[in-house]
Amino acid sequence: MEGNLTLSKSKINTFLQCPRKFKYRYIDEIKEEPNEYMQFGTDVHKIAEDIANELIEKENVNEETINDAISNVNYEGEFDIKHHIEGLKEFFNDIYANNYEIFSAEEYILDESDNLIGIIDIVIKNKSDELIIFDYKTGKPRSIDKYKLELTVYKMLLESKYPNHKVISAGIYFTGDNAYRIANFDNAKEDYFTSQSKEKIKENDFEYVDKISQHIYKTIDRNYFVTRKGFMCKYCFYKDHCDNDFS
Ligand code: SF4
Repeated sequence: MEGNLTLSKSKINTFLQCPRKFKYRYIDEIKEEPNEYMQFGTDVHKIAEDIANELIEKENVNEETINDAISNVNYEGEFDIKHHIEGLKEFFNDIYANNYEIFSAEEYILDESDNLIGIIDIVIKNKSDELIIFDYKTGKPRSIDKYKLELTVYKMLLESKYPNHKVISAGIYFTGDNAYRIANFDNAKEDYFTSQSKEKIKENDFEYVDKISQHIYKTIDRNYFVTRKGFMCKYCFYKDHCDNDFS
């Protein structure tokens, strides 16, 4: 089975939430209907991608260039996302004010050796070609601890594709609150990006990704997916399947 299923941060996170949910979603391939919250996130990510792609093409990006890119946003969706667009404006200004530029946006990467896959929201680079990964979130700011696993997966993916670049830091940008949560990787010497880095992602975070990946493959081989019942079950798309299977 190991050769057949490529893991991603979403798959790993789903498994950690509930192995049974992982089975329904990724083994049985029962498609989840997108809810309002998912669509809202998708819309903000698409706008961020369009702005980033416009800025990548430009030289000497400054506040005016960024304002132009923001004013080109033509959102016709159903949500009120004004303050998320304002947040993105702050974010892109911070990138260039810190002497970084955009390296890639919404890049799809497959790492065959680790059997991992992912799309990284945005990667920025400094003058020494060192990289910082950012993932956008539209929800309320939370501790970086919650995101270390996915940021570790992204670093593994990025360094597999660009072995000559060092990923020094990774973080979450909360578009609605203009808030950062950033962690430096263990081998990073400095405090990057406006000295906002307060945390570290350590070697054992990488070992954890490896361990949980092996555990997922073993579970798939045994075809035994336990339920993780809790208050979140009432929001679970697979609740009816789950109730039927265990009634
Ligand atoms: S209802 Fe609860 S236990 Fe069942 S799959 Fe969903 S999250 Fe897991």
